[in-house]
Amino acid sequence: MSQLDYHNDTLTFGGQALTAIAERFGTPCYVYAERVLTEAYTAYRDAFASLDPLICYAVKANGNLSILQHFARLGAGFDIVSGGELARVLAAGADAAKVVFSGVGKTADEMRMGLEAGIHCFNVESVNELVRLNQVAGEMGRRAPVSLRVNPDVDAQTHPYISTGLKDNKFGIAFDTAFDVYREAAALPHLDVVGIDCHIGSQLTDVTPLIDALDRLLALVDRLAEAGIVLRHLDIGGGVGIRYTDETPPDLQGYADAVAQRLAGRPLRLVMEPGRSLVGNAGVLLTRVEYLKLGEAKNFAIVDAAMNDLLRPSLYAAYHQIVPVVRHAHLPPMKVDVVGPVCESSDFLGKDRTLAVKEGDLLAVLSAGAYGSTMASNYNTRPRAAEVLIGVDGQPRLVRARETLEALLANERALLETH
Ligand SMILES: *Cc1c(COP(=O)(O)O)cnc(C)c1O
Repeated sequence: MSQLDYHNDTLTFGGQALTAIAERFGTPCYVYAERVLTEAYTAYRDAFASLDPLICYAVKANGNLSILQHFARLGAGFDIVSGGELARVLAAGADAAKVVFSGVGKTADEMRMGLEAGIHCFNVESVNELVRLNQVAGEMGRRAPVSLRVNPDVDAQTHPYISTGLKDNKFGIAFDTAFDVYREAAALPHLDVVGIDCHIGSQLTDVTPLIDALDRLLALVDRLAEAGIVLRHLDIGGGVGIRYTDETPPDLQGYADAVAQRLAGRPLRLVMEPGRSLVGNAGVLLTRVEYLKLGEAKNFAIVDAAMNDLLRPSLYAAYHQIVPVVRHAHLPPMKVDVVGPVCESSDFLGKDRTLAVKEGDLLAVLSAGAYGSTMASNYNTRPRAAEVLIGVDGQPRLVRARETLEALLANERALLETH
């Protein structure tokens, strides 16, 4: 990870000692580095510069308002999947005209919110959604800009839970029926058919499936043009994979060049929706070892972060590197499972890690900026973690206060009022 270094055996991130962050803000705590956010965004902007794309950051990767605000200031648009995320990006100062609305289950209320705000486009995933959107737009006396999410039926070669472009996925409109669905869309009076999109999966370390998907989409774009349906933009979906441990992320410039070559001479604006690759390696999860539990079969480091804070290891068997915040020269390393206090055997952050740790030590779970805090829950009545953003000046800022128990109980009512 960039911006992550040991200085005198103490881990620093964005120029700040993580020991100082833990002391000031407590644990568990997500720590983000602004500089890495900027680097990741400009890497996309520069690689694709010849196409002047609309880069819509996928909010579900990390929706912290300060992070959204940072990307909005850099000129990004946003890819949202709910009315809640729309409210979030508007609160962060986003330009609604740069917002695309994805997701298979948009409610009529969410459609109204999007139309009211004047978003760039609805990425529609089914015929019934088209019909509903047409009706909602009609009731409001507006026209809804739509793109169809086409399922190109290519194998993204990633984890089944984050693969979305195959025939048996719930996402998108089957490639074979897409042409007919476009004709239906074009015939609906309150819709403007403006684009085409796809998203075949996440954490792709090979761009071949992305290019295959693009080729299939372009063939459809041509067929549609012949039938008089001329699209204005093409949205290639999420970004490329990142390095969690030993993955080799694809060469962004190589990917951009392949896309540019295919779009050359076409009057199609490029849109993309990267999430993970803009924030994943901009964040770590700081946690403290509560107990060491040494046994015959296994050793456990029981830490104060858990699956409710970072679900990816439990949900996808995802691997996150875990490193000590203070390196001990004289402590012998041992093999441990790093686990949380939640009452589930699947509550682990890492298995069979070789670490030199003792009780009270701090650990950093790396590459935790994407799909970390956004997937957090209150399981076991655990308040959600604090979040800190380290600015380019090296100064840490609390960007989400640790949830209080009071806030956590606030929406519940006891059956019997006690006096
Ligand atoms: C999740 C998602 C993204 C972001 O994918 P990353 O792999 O995080 O870049 C983009 N578009 C859609 C429709 C998504 O569901």
